[in-house]
Amino acid sequence: MKRNFIAGEWVEAGAAADNINPSDTRDVVGSYASASAGQAEAAIAAAAAALPKWAASTPQQRFDVLDAVGSEILARKAELGDLLAREEGKTLPEAVGEVLRAGQIFKFHAGEALRPGGELLPSTRPGITVELTREPVGVVSIITPWNFPIAIPAWKIAPALAHGNTVVFKPAEAVPGSAWALAEILSRAGLPAGSFNLVMGRGRVVGEALLGDPRVAAVSFTGSEPTGRQVAQACIRRHGPMARFQLEMGGKNPLVVLDDADLAVAVECAVNGAYYSTGQRCTASSRLVVSEGIHDRFVAALVERLGALVVGDARDAGTTIGPVVDAAQLAQDTRYIDIGLGEGARLAFGGQAIEQMAGKPGFYLQPTLFVDTHNGMRINREEIFGPVASVIRVRDAEEALAVANDTGFGLSAGVCTTSLKLAAHFKRHLQAGMVMVNAPTAGVDPHVPFGGRKGSSFGPREQGRHAAEFYTTGKTAYVAT
Ligand code: ADP
Repeated sequence: MKRNFIAGEWVEAGAAADNINPSDTRDVVGSYASASAGQAEAAIAAAAAALPKWAASTPQQRFDVLDAVGSEILARKAELGDLLAREEGKTLPEAVGEVLRAGQIFKFHAGEALRPGGELLPSTRPGITVELTREPVGVVSIITPWNFPIAIPAWKIAPALAHGNTVVFKPAEAVPGSAWALAEILSRAGLPAGSFNLVMGRGRVVGEALLGDPRVAAVSFTGSEPTGRQVAQACIRRHGPMARFQLEMGGKNPLVVLDDADLAVAVECAVNGAYYSTGQRCTASSRLVVSEGIHDRFVAALVERLGALVVGDARDAGTTIGPVVDAAQLAQDTRYIDIGLGEGARLAFGGQAIEQMAGKPGFYLQPTLFVDTHNGMRINREEIFGPVASVIRVRDAEEALAVANDTGFGLSAGVCTTSLKLAAHFKRHLQAGMVMVNAPTAGVDPHVPFGGRKGSSFGPREQGRHAAEFYTTGKTAYVAT
């Protein structure tokens, strides 16, 4: 059994769970500890005990730890990418790319640790100066989803440690392998015992224990919208001081294709945004909002392109679409396909689960495209989180903008157009945290803010130097001389 890491020790749990390869369910990646609430509490206690030491560490010490972690991840990218593809089901090139990203994120935040800021200002009163500084928040609970098993943990853990916080990390149940490998690297990186703790286990057990304890000062969560709401409530309702919380939740991201779009660019944006990583990205383009002058050409070209995608084992060369992550997600995807058909949407491509691929039992699903849909349908309002997209036909740019914004989410939004004027108009008026012009709605940089509006996000943005807003707390000091 792969054990949890608490207070600098590898700790057995009373229970374990198998990590299953979604490309071949006969393949067990490993057995991973499933912690009790008591172990989660022990991890919080360890993080609280380690806080004074790590919070007092120098910028150079923090740099050295994070830089060493980044270097090891980068050096092992092929092996860690293979593990990631095996447990999550994204293709090998995507998985290696994600590992590379995780390494780069640790390197970036190593640099951030060396770059602490501050301001010295004159007071409005004579004889006084004002100092603005930022301090660690304290013990941070980090709760992550399964779709980016190493990059999302990296973009939370690295800034948390860079700014002097201590961490209790709970990965998603479906993908403990990458999390464990990351923890193992962190365990040898020179952190004081207890500064970083790994507690694998169930959301309802470990996740909940990481929210209610008054020793936890902050919670960074990425996952589904209903769970995000529960996290927020638990952070507020608990005894003692509230925890600050940051939530990244779902999306129903529109990709708008206008009459004057470059057709090849628009089709590539749609294929990449809607289907890569098996559509399992919160930034996926699930609504393709297409104006009528290009609609038929766009649908025909997209369907042709979908026919060239290769669904298969995530680790086979030539696979472009890996399996869905697990049985529950596949059931959700196929349920929504049935809902779409029941709502009167028409399948232009795909729609079928595939039980076996070259003799391997797995959670395979054809890339699926609905046409003749409207924005009121459940398939266009609720997050499906699979390789399923809908085309919504609109009259013109004005209706496209209205439809794009008519959603409870607001993470990412894209527009394909060759008009500078229309690009500027959409860039300004799309109601989303991230706007893409002639680029897929998914695929973001690690050095700039990531996050959304409306039901997609709550709290400060993640990533880049902006991550400091969540992982530090400001102090305003007045000094009379
Ligand atoms: P996803 O299905 O995308 O993983 P979830 O919101 O179900 O989204 O899960 C995201 C993370 O939240 C996972 O690590 C999960 O174990 C955890 N989680 C689930 N339920 C709770 C809960 N009630 N409290 C805290 N964490 C939870």
